[in-house]
Amino acid sequence: MPELHRPETLAEACSLLASLDNPMVYGGGTAIQILLKQGILFADNFVDLSRIPRLREITVDHNGLIVGPMVTVRRMETDERVRATSPLAAAAYHHVANPRVRNTASVGGNIAHGDYRLDPPTALLVLDATIEAASTKGTRRIPVREFFVDFQQTALAPNEMVTAVCIPTQPTGSGRFVKYSSLSENDWPCASAAVLVADSGGRREVRIGLGALAPVPRHVSFDATGLSDQEAVDAAIAAVEPALDPIPDVRGSVAYKRRLGRVAVEDAVRSAWKDLADG
Ligand SMILES: Cc1cc2nc3c(=O)[nH]c(=O)nc-3n(C[C@H](O)[C@H](O)[C@H](O)COP(=O)(O)OP(=O)(O)OC[C@H]3O[C@@H](n4cnc5c(N)ncnc54)[C@H](O)[C@@H]3O)c2cc1C
Repeated sequence: MPELHRPETLAEACSLLASLDNPMVYGGGTAIQILLKQGILFADNFVDLSRIPRLREITVDHNGLIVGPMVTVRRMETDERVRATSPLAAAAYHHVANPRVRNTASVGGNIAHGDYRLDPPTALLVLDATIEAASTKGTRRIPVREFFVDFQQTALAPNEMVTAVCIPTQPTGSGRFVKYSSLSENDWPCASAAVLVADSGGRREVRIGLGALAPVPRHVSFDATGLSDQEAVDAAIAAVEPALDPIPDVRGSVAYKRRLGRVAVEDAVRSAWKDLADG
């Protein structure tokens, strides 16, 4: 039976992770509990971060949001500061699972879970967010664009934990998050896309984050200055094509997911583009 540890400071949490046998950070537990029940997760010690106040805070500075890893997914969709500073991130967190999961799952656990189907990383990639990670060796920052290393594998070192997700203020323009599920509305995505059409000083850039369409969440971007809406959609579909490498499963075949990925990108780019045209 694993032992549960509940440190009250970050330093204590770091030293527990460095000294205990086979430790694992415990966030909201929504993924951990399922994996335990399935008998495919083995940890001797859980380090629960919920008693460390700083890890439950959302702060706003001149760069954007600094989100503690124990902030719930639900708070990310409802907090007015998140919705004002980064509406695209709020939209992606809003689409995670169902209210029961969102009320319990944490921002840190969501990203550290490293699943290729996660919704929030699509927006975090587009917004060029950064992960703050800490261990007894110190603190470092990892761009989200370098965080997802391979299938179910992140850039976190053993015994390192996420201590913040830093999300820059959303650039001027228009953002859209689109998710298609095959089994039920609240299910994991079959394909998802976060799109930002950044529009500043006459220059337009399209940034796209893809979820469930490759072994890791992926992103692409391109200069869209001077394009019509249809040209932007065509350029977006051409740009994502090399990034589409879906894993077939109960939610769809490779061909189906590739097709749905293109539809999600078209849908998101077209509606974000229209929002800009409508002012
Ligand atoms: C029914 C169901 C449906 C779901 N559907 C979706 C969906 O549609 N879209 C989606 O995006 N997600 C979905 N999820 C996944 C859900 O988002 C994750 O389960 C959740 O975000 C994990 O967060 P948690 O805090 O519960 O993590 P935990 O279960 O506590 O931990 C998950 C992993 O992260 C590690 N971890 C936790 N916190 C940290 C930290 N601070 N630093 C380092 N490592 C840490 C743990 O050690 C563990 O390996 C679904 C989950 C369920 C149960």
